[in-house]
Amino acid sequence: MHLILLGAPGAGKGTQGALLAERLGIPKLATGDILREAVRNGTELGREAKQFMDAGELVPDHVILGLVRELLASPAAEQGVIFDGFPRTIAQAEALETILGDLGRGVDAVVLIDVPDRTIVQRMSGRRTDPETGEVYHIVSNPPPPEIAPRVIQRVDDREDTVQRRLDVYRQSTAPLIGFYERAGLPIERVDGTQEIERVQAEISRRLAR
Ligand code: AMP
Repeated sequence: MHLILLGAPGAGKGTQGALLAERLGIPKLATGDILREAVRNGTELGREAKQFMDAGELVPDHVILGLVRELLASPAAEQGVIFDGFPRTIAQAEALETILGDLGRGVDAVVLIDVPDRTIVQRMSGRRTDPETGEVYHIVSNPPPPEIAPRVIQRVDDREDTVQRRLDVYRQSTAPLIGFYERAGLPIERVDGTQEIERVQAEISRRLAR
């Protein structure tokens, strides 16, 4: 099963993707997580990506596609993957078709997690990350445990002005993927992402089982 999770930054793709990955027994491929780890480790990929990420801009397609091509060819991805934060442009979606096609596979489903912009801004401004593990918390809805609280930080790209930019980039470059997949004949499963985590998960599962 190759499943794409679409939705604005902060819509809950990471949370829902992790739950789905566990339930379906296939890995989650989150390009943002991979890039952040590369930045933390100071690798060449990290150095190349950091400036774009900090500004809320997209990392160039050739960088992302090299990464995805490599990961999809690995044995861990043989039974399929859940894509979180990829594809983010039409060019990436077209390249994904080719990469999967060469492997004799294809996209099976697209889930759109819908959350209004003002909720996104509220969510993201309260988001805090543990710099040691990359674990994400929220000061109100999911506070870090006391032993971790002193070291959590706000990601540069979770600051309000950068969040606004990321939302603009989403509208401009990523939202057109909805039409792209509709035209390709894949139904878009729209899910209300403002509900509780478990309800969103249940709704996604129900849609996928149809
Ligand atoms: P995310 O955690 O998915 O919101 O990603 C954080 C940042 O990583 C984004 O704002 C982009 O700068 C970069 N990024 C992640 N995935 C992609 C992608 N598929 N294409 C381009 N840039 C990406």
